[in-house]
Amino acid sequence: MSLSKETEVIFDARRGIDYDSANPPLYDSSTFHQKTLGGGAPFDYARSGNPNRALLEEKLAKLEGGSHAFAYASGIAAISAVLLTLNTGDHVILPDDVYGGTFRLTEQILTRFDIQFSTVNTTHLQEIEQAIQDNTKLIYIETPSNPLFKITDIRGAADIARHHQLLLAVDNTFMTPLGQSPLALGADIVVHSATKFLSGHSDIIAGVAITNNAKVADALYLLQNGTGTALSAQDSWTLAKHLKTLPVRFNQSVENAKKLYEALHQRDEIAEVYYPGNSDLHLSQAHHGGAVLGFRLKDETKAQAFVDALSLPLVSVSLGGVETILSHPATMSHAAIPKEVRDARNITFGLFRLSVGIESADELISDLNYAFKEAFNESTTRQITEQHLSS
Ligand SMILES: *Cc1c(COP(=O)(O)O)cnc(C)c1O
Repeated sequence: MSLSKETEVIFDARRGIDYDSANPPLYDSSTFHQKTLGGGAPFDYARSGNPNRALLEEKLAKLEGGSHAFAYASGIAAISAVLLTLNTGDHVILPDDVYGGTFRLTEQILTRFDIQFSTVNTTHLQEIEQAIQDNTKLIYIETPSNPLFKITDIRGAADIARHHQLLLAVDNTFMTPLGQSPLALGADIVVHSATKFLSGHSDIIAGVAITNNAKVADALYLLQNGTGTALSAQDSWTLAKHLKTLPVRFNQSVENAKKLYEALHQRDEIAEVYYPGNSDLHLSQAHHGGAVLGFRLKDETKAQAFVDALSLPLVSVSLGGVETILSHPATMSHAAIPKEVRDARNITFGLFRLSVGIESADELISDLNYAFKEAFNESTTRQITEQHLSS
């Protein structure tokens, strides 16, 4: 059939053709041709499923050792889906230092639907056990936690969950499936902000929930499709591409973080360094200390001067990028918490979090050491910072 130009520009004769490319094509298609009516084509409408998301989910399920993975438009969308598998009247146990966005979701949104939450110090397993009520359905933990890197015993929490017939969900964002495998340790559900290490290039917002429980999987799929929070084809394609370099990116960051820990904990200007690699419990359930650490300046009035004198790290929220990212919890992730509460929780103005990237560790260390010296040198001015930058 010869086509008019108006039809020719629309008609795609190459629909579905596979060129055996090294990378999967981006199936930027909201809908799919259905040759046979009711014929069960693999994809019909892209909110319900598309090839790029399916490929990504298959890979993520394998990496976490789960039977099913579901990719969402953000980490918070994945966490929402996990919590929305519950019903009105159900109760959840959460860490008292849970990720701020998760806290906002529970406190300001889900409680309106009478899903109930108790926050406890999950590093003490007996506090989890004591918080269990007749209507408790889920224990939700994050380890290492943020920004003080507290460690919760995943096997211990899984034992409690099993004993009381509850589900255990673990936010594994900080360790990635390469560093820690919660499903193998007894958890039922793993969530990630794929915005962080999984994508690793600070370019997309994405999340994933993984499970080996078929009932939970059905509920997660219903929520992904039914609330329309699935990850787009474009972002699924980008994330799948970035995942290929996760092992080299993450290993380099982990090695750099070890060296930075050694350098930081020798500095006179620092009161404390928080590094999961120091925790026996953490190392009993993870392969290494990860790539994020925290430190507290002895004199918090030097915090701005320290930032002024730095050249290399990106000073921002987020973590897990190839670039080193320095965050300041008191004015960033935890700014919404009243100062007295923040101070009581030890999130002071002198506390920094460092997500270590893949730059030269030696250069990162010299940059930090320079900034510590400058910040704590009484005669420092911003001009000296500029000299440092131009040298
Ligand atoms: C960033 C983050 C989230 C939220 O993920 P988004 O992709 O920003 O929605 C959840 N948990 C942890 C531990 C995080 O760091």
